[in-house]
Amino acid sequence: MNRRSFLKNSAAVTALSCLAPSFLKAAEKSSFEWKRLGDDIGYFKLSGGTMGWMITADAFVVIDSQFPKNATQFLSKARKETSRKIDFLINTHHHGDHTKGNKILIPESVNSIAHEKCVLWQRKASKKPEAEVVAAATFSDEWRQDIPGEKMTAKYYGEAHTSGDIVIHFQNRNVAHVGDLVFNHHPPYIDRGAGANISKWIQVLEKLHSEFNDETEFIFGHGLPHVGVAGKRVRLLEMRDFLSGILDFTSKEIKAGASIDEVKQTLKVPGFEDYFMDSWSTAIPNALAVAYQELTEANS
Ligand SMILES: [Zn+2]
Repeated sequence: MNRRSFLKNSAAVTALSCLAPSFLKAAEKSSFEWKRLGDDIGYFKLSGGTMGWMITADAFVVIDSQFPKNATQFLSKARKETSRKIDFLINTHHHGDHTKGNKILIPESVNSIAHEKCVLWQRKASKKPEAEVVAAATFSDEWRQDIPGEKMTAKYYGEAHTSGDIVIHFQNRNVAHVGDLVFNHHPPYIDRGAGANISKWIQVLEKLHSEFNDETEFIFGHGLPHVGVAGKRVRLLEMRDFLSGILDFTSKEIKAGASIDEVKQTLKVPGFEDYFMDSWSTAIPNALAVAYQELTEANS
């Protein structure tokens, strides 16, 4: 690969927003999905990262905010069920398809919470850091909050999809939002520039699987239509197996003498061909490039 195309590809890895596939852009259409996982808890999907919500007479909790237009649509739908201010707005991590709607939802919120690295990366990734609307409160390991009829926790498990991903658990309802720790049979974005680590991500998924149970209902940041954005904990292990598949494939290629550019010619990981989108065909090549960098860094 010549220098020019190398620069082009390097930029492609870091500047996701410049080449964002349609699912990572603010929705132009209005057909959102408002799905219940219980009487008063569920998710909102339009474009970008899946939002979670819980609405009772005594509490209104929202997880993530997608984009401003999407957040506005979310709020008008939620307003049919409650006139409360949002008691807690929680960000799973910093990516724009999970936080750009903060500017709509945080002014409507009494409290806003995120991992400390979420706020750090949000500002670092922004062209106008001072204008970025970030959570008012941050934590490093664990945040707990009891509200009427529910115990909420938000927990950090270590480097994974970024270095600031958290899992929010509604303990009584046994619903957990894992953000982008699971791309449910969906090609992933692995943000090495913001501290992602595939090997550690695998460990995080195994820890999560052991901490939750077969009854836990999970909400995932992204998922292809045939599997959706919610499911049981078996999906955590499927995500682990896919990430292991990326590492194994890349490791074999490295041992066979392949360069990073040669590895990036692969559009689908053998054995995991369903992790593919026509509209985002650079996803797997970029993921393999991250694996290549991680593996060669570990061995150097
Ligand atoms: Zn993300």
